[in-house]
Amino acid sequence: MKWVRFERDGKQGMGMLQGDSVQPVAATTLQEVIDGRGTQPAGAAFPLSEAKLRAPLRPGKILCVGQNYWDHCREQKKDPPTKPILFAKFPLSVIGPGDQVRWPQDLTSQVDYEAEMALVIGRAARLVKEEDALDYLFGYTAANDISARDIQFGDGQWLRGKAIDTFCPLGPCVVTRDEVPDPQNVPIKQRVNGTTLQNSNTKEMIFPVRQLVSFISRAITLEPGDVILTGTPDGVGVFRDPKIFLKPGDQLEVELGPVGVLKNTVGPFLT
Ligand code: MG
Repeated sequence: MKWVRFERDGKQGMGMLQGDSVQPVAATTLQEVIDGRGTQPAGAAFPLSEAKLRAPLRPGKILCVGQNYWDHCREQKKDPPTKPILFAKFPLSVIGPGDQVRWPQDLTSQVDYEAEMALVIGRAARLVKEEDALDYLFGYTAANDISARDIQFGDGQWLRGKAIDTFCPLGPCVVTRDEVPDPQNVPIKQRVNGTTLQNSNTKEMIFPVRQLVSFISRAITLEPGDVILTGTPDGVGVFRDPKIFLKPGDQLEVELGPVGVLKNTVGPFLT
């Protein structure tokens, strides 16, 4: 199943994406769907083009994993980490498909993109074994881990450079875990203004999904509706020669296997 949250005729709803049409259901948030409430159809299906898709959910926690792809470590000429590196974003970091990434011009001059697979937690997870970890997932979505590199590397820790408002586009849909037979074999790409700058596969993850969920759950209880960003492959702007940083007007596309394409634009500077 592919779940979308949409806005149509001024109302927000949840629906099942079936090809190019949306079958609305009674639930109005993904949280209700995760809880198993309101998943029955409610009203007639309509063309996807008649709705604006919204961020699929407002997560509780947003946990992110740094340096989790072999190819991303190679491009930095760094040894792979010996355990997952965690940081966080916040609910107001999240924007939906088609929404604008924005920041004040004097805050940062090094805004970068990172295509990522995001996990949506489906049931409370604490002290989870690796072999059971996938049972705790509701599904998968795409994320763009937008990052202000000058702040990330200048602050001594990553939080302020990563958790800026609008710096966590999510969507366009959440694909339930039964439709992703192997989360370690999903193609992942990023295009900026139509040019492919990241092109990899989740098989490059150093710590696979099972290990991430287990590792995090030993310290932090994961709750339904929490989101985990699992790291980005190589090709990010800061490690290119010449470097590429984002600017107003740029068109971003993260493409993640069955999730499809998450499109966003960089909006005008905030004043
Ligand atoms: Mg990242």
